[in-house]
Order: sequence, then C-alpha cells, then structure tokens
Amino acid sequence: MSENLNPFAIAQKQLDDAAELLQLDPAMHQFLRQPMREYHFTIPVKMDDGSTQVFNGFRVQYNDARGPNKGGIRFHWEETIDTVRALAAWMTWKTAVVDIPLGGGKGGVICDPRALSATELERLSRGFMRNIANIVGITQDVPAPDVYTNPQIMAWMMDEYEHIVGHKEPGVITGKPLELGGSAGRGDATARGGIYTVREVGKVMDMDLQGKTAAIQGYGNAGTFAHLLAEEILGMKVVAISDSRGGILNTNGLSAEECMNYKRETGSVINFPGTDAITNEELLELEVDVLFPSALENVITEKNAANIKAKIVAELANGPTTPEADLILHENNVYVIPDFLCNAGGVTVSYFEMVQNGYQYYWPEAMVHERLDQKMTAAFWAVHDTAVARNIHNRLAAYLVAVSRVAEAVRLRGWV
Ligand code: GLU
Repeated sequence: MSENLNPFAIAQKQLDDAAELLQLDPAMHQFLRQPMREYHFTIPVKMDDGSTQVFNGFRVQYNDARGPNKGGIRFHWEETIDTVRALAAWMTWKTAVVDIPLGGGKGGVICDPRALSATELERLSRGFMRNIANIVGITQDVPAPDVYTNPQIMAWMMDEYEHIVGHKEPGVITGKPLELGGSAGRGDATARGGIYTVREVGKVMDMDLQGKTAAIQGYGNAGTFAHLLAEEILGMKVVAISDSRGGILNTNGLSAEECMNYKRETGSVINFPGTDAITNEELLELEVDVLFPSALENVITEKNAANIKAKIVAELANGPTTPEADLILHENNVYVIPDFLCNAGGVTVSYFEMVQNGYQYYWPEAMVHERLDQKMTAAFWAVHDTAVARNIHNRLAAYLVAVSRVAEAVRLRGWV
C-alpha cells in the first residue's frame, strides 16, 4: 500500500501511537484527535485591474485547554483544510512541549502570494482578518506568520482588527514589526530555537559541531536564519542550500551573508556563482552532519528515508517526515529533532511578544535569547530523556510529553 501523505491523517496517526503508549482514555483520545472548532470562509478581493477574485480561507482552533489558541497563517497555493488541521494539531503539541500557556491553532488561505501585488496582498490580509475578527483576540486565539506571511501582513491584520474592535490590542497577533509592538528576536526565533536544540544534540552525541557540515532545504525565514546562526552560534559549515527552484552545493562552504544577499537580489539561490547545481531531493541525501528540512511537509518519506546520511535531522519545517520514514531513520540511528520541538522557538518568542504587549514594556534582545534558550533546552531534555527512558524515537517521545500535558489540562477542566 502506498504511503498516506495527507498531513492530517499523519498527525492523527502520530497521536494514535502516543495514545496507545500513554493508555489514553478512549474519550480523551477521540477528543484530541480532532479540532475543537474550525471556520471556513470566502474572501472576495478587488484586484488592481478592477476584477474581483474570491479566495478561500480557514482558521482551525485545535485545542485551547492550556490557553488561547496560537498559531500562524499560511498563504499557499497548495493549502488545504487538512493541512491547516494538521498544522493546528502540531501547534497544540508545540506550545505544550515548550510549556507555554497557550493552545494550538492555524490559519490558511489558498492563494499564490507571489502573483499578488502589495496592494492586493494588503486587501487579502485585511479581508482575512475581517472574517476572523470575532473569533480571535488575546484571550481567544492569536495568529502569527507562517509560510509566505510576514511582519507587514501581521501589521495590516492588527490594524484591521483594531479598527473593528475600536481599541488598541497589539497582542491580537504576533510576529509584528518592532515599531508596532513586535518583540526583539522574533525574526530569527524559529531558527535560533532549532540551533539551540542542535547544540544540545552535540552534547548527547559528544560531537564538537565546530567545522561540521550542514545542508538546508528551504530558504525562507527558518532556512535563511538557520544558515546564519549555524555559522554564528555553532561554527558550522553550510555546504548546501535550496529553495523551491532548486539547490546549490559548495563543499568548501557557503557564506550566509552572501547567499542571503543573492537570494534577495535574484529571488532564488539557484545559479549562485562558484556552486554546483543540485536538486532538492539530492540535497536531502547529502553526506552532512546536520540536515535542516526547513520548507514544507512530506519531504522525508519511506522512499528516501533509507538514503538520508545526515547524523542529525533538525526539523525546522512542520511535518517534513512521515511516520514510515520516522521508523527507518530511528532504525538507522539518525538523531531526529522532531518538528514541534525543533521549530518551537518561533511560537515561544511569539508568546514573549504577547507578554510584552500585555504590559507595554519591552525586553532587550539578549533577554529574549536567554529566555528562549531556557525554554528550548528544557523542552529538548524532557523529550530526549523520555526517548531514552522508554526506548522510543524522539517524535513519539515529544508526543508523550506534549499530549500528557494537554490531556491533563483537559481533565482538570472537567471536559473529559
Ligand atoms: N508559524 C509558526 C509555527 O509554525 C509560528 C507560530 C506562532 O508564532 O504563533 O510555529
């Protein structure tokens, strides 16, 4: 039978495995297997040429037992409701694994943001917020950026929300520009948190990461900053990077600064002078110490898992590895830092942003880094120790930690 690549089916299967080990009460299991609420809506947008295009949007509030729903909004041409459901489930486990008082949610719009002008993108963003204004807010649900959304989009959405409710409420959304209540350190937080966890794996494996090699699949927010911080914090040599158009390889190492400038100027990393062209598939199978899948779901599957040669897979993307591939990587002793642990730095600093918005007083960047490090390091060891104690793979261990916390909140509230 061919592998099921539906992200929500995968998220449910991962939960099922954890539920079995936790001997979760059947009603609790059933409750945690599906979103508490979801919203589907249409967003008509006036285009620059005078025509109107109707977009489809979603917001899924997966579970709010531990606090307001939290999670980004993705603009993507391949967005589906099941992708949003899976991402919302993973947000629930993510906020729990780093132990911040939030639930999980996610939003999405089926659109190609690359084909929209800035004014069209603004109207779409404001239209999205008009549809969810009644169901978001600091005590209900707090969106943030995700793939193809950014601080400018968060600013438009915050502004639209404040017009609707008639008062200032910057904490309604996170990942805002610094000038409008964003937090220092939010920009690189996803990658930075992941880099902290790789540093800890270095200790587990007794491996000095200085000068070791890395490959990065995906060159958006997470991928670019992973490149910069792998150099800066760990002293690693990044030999390959890629984006949706292809990849580049230079075994002597690629400079983050040069690659970021090149991508900014040309729109892609491909054809960077002095490098060899490789495909995304080839990049994943390179003989490197650390592989950072930093793009989208389902890139490591039962088809290529056995060919992964990296010693550490640090999942900055959400859902890059399928359950079948997980078993193969575990068998082959690849150290996987599972997505909702590895990329939890983003939401952790989003939480710090909400806290700062609440008292309108802002922390210096060094304080954000220090507190992020504490959260990531504690979460890493909770997961690692569980994996060792129960002799299970790291993703399953992360589920045990996260699901027990969410289930306990549900139980204490008397819901199940
Ligand atoms: N979209 C990011 C994630 O998947 C960040 C979410 C947030 O900051 O709320 O974790």
